Amino acid sequence: MHTNTQPRLRYGMVGGGEGAFIGAVHRMAAALDGEFELVCGAFSSDAARNQRSAAGLGLPSTRAYPDLEAMLAGEAALPESERMQALAIVTPNHLHAPAAIAALDAGFHVMSEKPMALNLEEALAIEAAVARSSRLYGLTFTYSGYPLVEEARARVARGDLGKIRLVQVEYSQGWLSQAIDRDGQKQAEWRTDPARAGLGGCLGDIGTHAFQLAEHVSGLAVEAVSADLSIFVPGRRLDDDVAALLRLEGGARGVLKASQVAAGDENGLRIRVHGEKGGLDWSQMEPNTLTLRWLDRPAEIVRAGGPGLDSLTTARLRTPAGHPEGYIEAFANLYRSFGRALQGGATTPPQRGEADWFPGIADGLRTMTFIEAMIANSAGDAKWTSLADVLAAGR
Ligand code: NAD
Repeated sequence: MHTNTQPRLRYGMVGGGEGAFIGAVHRMAAALDGEFELVCGAFSSDAARNQRSAAGLGLPSTRAYPDLEAMLAGEAALPESERMQALAIVTPNHLHAPAAIAALDAGFHVMSEKPMALNLEEALAIEAAVARSSRLYGLTFTYSGYPLVEEARARVARGDLGKIRLVQVEYSQGWLSQAIDRDGQKQAEWRTDPARAGLGGCLGDIGTHAFQLAEHVSGLAVEAVSADLSIFVPGRRLDDDVAALLRLEGGARGVLKASQVAAGDENGLRIRVHGEKGGLDWSQMEPNTLTLRWLDRPAEIVRAGGPGLDSLTTARLRTPAGHPEGYIEAFANLYRSFGRALQGGATTPPQRGEADWFPGIADGLRTMTFIEAMIANSAGDAKWTSLADVLAAGR
């Protein structure tokens, strides 16, 4: 919670204008604890829409910039006490890397949407920009902000399930079941264009979420993938359905399934992790429940706000016990952690398992390496593609 003695963190936004999907969610998340204040934006490449968006958000027209370049120059010219400190990047994917690098090089911190970039090469360029700027870089892998995802991670990390054997993750959506991209639907239209979405379609859009969650909760790095990428909707240029077998460190095996043509499904993200002693099961459509099943005793239903939670989980809860909380709060947890790191002068996120952890460069590079490995594997004849080899080739 923000206190009156702390100045608010001033942030600007690129993207997120009228009609955009995720920009408004960022603004709600950043506002939830009162720690951030939106001071400027380049909300749209359409000048009138940009000004209308800024006015609707209560910003003066002088802080609605025609593009990011003008925003970085305009803000840099302001007194330090007024200037934005961090940039939220909520544009289509092709602008993530150029925006992040320009902002970092101009001395601003960055909170970016995923996927980190169009490809691994761009992601490595962001990593280099972070290193030379000593600025903070966060990535909104939303689902790792849920309290019971933290509980799942903590229980695996402290060994409750025993040695991990199986990691099964799926993200099942149905909204791209038809050719709405060719009918001009705003969000679908750029997501199926390789120039603006990147190497993967469904793979980059939600496969990255599933992958990040799998590594986050299991605590295990995926070492190799065997991929099956499909395009179901005729004429579509990027995958709309993805499956992968995963080989994880320590000998664990996994399955990742992501689809945007699972007709009728909403945001069916589910993760199950099994060890030698038992397993856990979490679904984002029921985010306040974590189910644990054991070999030697009855199943446990762990509830947000209920007894027995790890202190890191409790720190991520916001609503009074027994009241539902969800997506906006999970997003806000990432913003709050990012804000605390900024207030504390940190230049990197805390380690996983420490208070106020949030995803940054490390998770970004893992997910971009995953995308490249999946593409390489599905294009070639090898049964398995090693992520370490893909990263080494990219560096
Ligand atoms: P969108 O098409 O709804 O919005 C994109 C916005 O960017 C629009 O306002 C558009 O006008 C603006 N824009 C485009 N080019 C611009 C430019 N040159 N300058 C300024 N603004 C520009 O897209 P969306 O669904 O909101 O997705 C945006 C990003 O968020 C994507 O990278 C997507 O992968 C990510 N996303 C993440 C989550 C999550 O759970 N973390 C959920 C949805 C989307």
